[in-house]
Amino acid sequence: MSKKKLFIIGNGMAACRLLDELAARGAAFQYEITVFGEEQGGAYNRIMLGKVLAGGSPDDIVTKPLEWYDRHNVRLIDRTRVVKLDTLRKQVETADGQLRSYDVAVLATGSQPVVPSLEGMNDENGELKPGIFVYRTIGDCMRMRERARSGDSAIVVGGGLLGLEAAKVLADRGLHVTVVQLKKTLMNAQLDEIGGEMLERQIERTGIFVRTGRTVEAVYAEERVKGVYLDDGTNRPADIVVLACGVRPRTDVAKASGLPVNRGIIVNDTLATEVPSVYALGECAEHQGKTYGIVAPAWEQAAVLADVLTGRNSATTYRGSKLYTRLKVAGVEVATMGISEPERPEDDVLQIVQDRKDTYRKLIVRDRRLVGAILVGDTSAAGALVQCFDRGDLLPEDPLELLCPTSVAADPATRIVCNCNKVTEGQIYEAVAQGAETIEALGVATKACTGCGSCKTEVTQLIARAPKRGALPLVAAS
Ligand SMILES: Cc1cc2nc3c(=O)[nH]c(=O)nc-3n(C[C@H](O)[C@H](O)[C@H](O)COP(=O)(O)OP(=O)(O)OC[C@H]3O[C@@H](n4cnc5c(N)ncnc54)[C@H](O)[C@@H]3O)c2cc1C
Repeated sequence: MSKKKLFIIGNGMAACRLLDELAARGAAFQYEITVFGEEQGGAYNRIMLGKVLAGGSPDDIVTKPLEWYDRHNVRLIDRTRVVKLDTLRKQVETADGQLRSYDVAVLATGSQPVVPSLEGMNDENGELKPGIFVYRTIGDCMRMRERARSGDSAIVVGGGLLGLEAAKVLADRGLHVTVVQLKKTLMNAQLDEIGGEMLERQIERTGIFVRTGRTVEAVYAEERVKGVYLDDGTNRPADIVVLACGVRPRTDVAKASGLPVNRGIIVNDTLATEVPSVYALGECAEHQGKTYGIVAPAWEQAAVLADVLTGRNSATTYRGSKLYTRLKVAGVEVATMGISEPERPEDDVLQIVQDRKDTYRKLIVRDRRLVGAILVGDTSAAGALVQCFDRGDLLPEDPLELLCPTSVAADPATRIVCNCNKVTEGQIYEAVAQGAETIEALGVATKACTGCGSCKTEVTQLIARAPKRGALPLVAAS
């Protein structure tokens, strides 16, 4: 029987995981797989872009070198943008005018940076003037780092995760950096006012200037950017302006192809669009009215879609993702999950602010279940909290106990250590006992540490503590 042609449009983190999931299910026997990627080369870990901006080699963040595609019989057509699908003729059209026929198509086009329209920022062709950057791809990082010289000044527009990360890397490269954030709170999508202030204080201590409740109204540029005008009438000189004003799902191909699109490409519980044989996943997809901006949901979707496409498990469905993040933001530990403010009259809020220790911990509890948490400065309670949040566990009578991880130990069998891949402490012990005694080997065995990498320190400690192959178990059976 001849194989079907499966086209994946986009070669980012969602597509990369889908390829792994398909390979694990032996999809090569069913499909001839072709991946179209607008960027150059194999897929890479976008979360690690900070390393490239800091001066590292792009090769260090590549997760699928070209030989991976060869070895798995996957055809990668890189540096090629898909323009649209003709869903009746089942053809894909690329920007060079070529048409290619498919049987099944998957859109994994990700997101694009939101670019505010600031007076003076575009040249006569509508391109950003030299010195103004977005922060999404290896190309953006290479261009930005070429321009960033120690002693220069940079304005980062946007105080969310990406803006703060860019600010930290540029400050570490010796630039004078100011973050301008429209909202009063840094990382306002994840943090409340107290958490945002705590983060702001700590970030300012690293030498970065933060202006909240302000925005950039216009850019002053001649051949290249020279400075910005703020909305309080002041101005700042700037050799670099980084636009980090959020992202929006990339739906251009879907729209051109007549697929139903809202904020993202609308998909059902099997990641199918309304048009037969066309699926979508990752940041471009909208499921039950939600789009996501972090990688864990894309990876959950990839596992479901691989089941659907291979017919491996016809009962699999995607029911949405519970959001939690645990990151180092500009050097400060931050973990958040669920809502950041109470939403119903019955929601109970518990907060511990330790100003001198620079830590802030907050829980939002509804019907004795955790519906939201914020940890800034000390995220040691995150493991136990994520476990309760993810499973909807009943909390202890006094939920404050949860904020003191030494008094309530999470069940190691289910305590999640790697948020991106949902790897538990128990799975890490098991893999170490099977011989995976390094971070790299554990990554292969369990996928731990292959996402944002924020769990690396904890995983290293667990490896050191775990019984090795052939050793007696930590607790002898009675
Ligand atoms: C600097 C940075 C730091 C981040 N940090 C974190 C973090 O700490 N934790 C976390 O969970 N998430 C983080 N994220 C978000 C994470 O990277 C995304 O959630 C993830 O990359 C989404 O995967 P995706 O495949 O949907 O989109 P992408 O990875 O963006 O991939 C989409 C790909 O499709 C290509 N494409 C689009 N349209 C076409 C077309 N028409 N033809 C061909 N190719 C096309 C694009 O060029 C791109 O390569 C970060 C993102 C950035 C930029």
